[in-house]
Amino acid sequence: MSVLPLHLLGSPVLRQRSAEVGPVDDEVRRLVDEMFETMDAARGVGLAANQVGIARRVAVVDADGDRFAMIDPVIVETEGAGTAEEGCLSIPEIYADVTRPERVVIEASDREGNRYRREATGLKARAIQHEIDHLDGILFLDHLSLMRRQMLMSRWRREHKDDTSHIKEVQPAADRAE
Ligand code: ZN
Repeated sequence: MSVLPLHLLGSPVLRQRSAEVGPVDDEVRRLVDEMFETMDAARGVGLAANQVGIARRVAVVDADGDRFAMIDPVIVETEGAGTAEEGCLSIPEIYADVTRPERVVIEASDREGNRYRREATGLKARAIQHEIDHLDGILFLDHLSLMRRQMLMSRWRREHKDDTSHIKEVQPAADRAE
């Protein structure tokens, strides 16, 4: 297993709609394991496969003490609305308040390929929606007003003008000096 490099804003794969996985095989299981490892190393609450350059509908979440993989996830129910600050491992150091449904119910396949249903509220519901957005090529910035989005995008471009690769290496958690 290894920690995978992260794709940052500007990488075309983040704007792609990822392809359905279908039956879960060893390759997908390995991807799930490496995504968990990468999310932990980057200290995220969620990670989508296109953030590590793979345009398939796979995401992992670790929020509110619940840790799970979502393969081919679909949102089947939403309720209410809440606003909270969000960030994204693919857009480091940029944060903004995003309004989303407060409660969601999803259906997805787990690492073994079994379909499951899960209800979530609060941070977990937010992380689930943020990751499913990624699978559709949507970033949290897209939920902001045009003015706010343009402001944050120009700040991002100013701070990353020397970065043309749009790739960031993540140091494995075990190697990091705390
Ligand atoms: Zn993100």
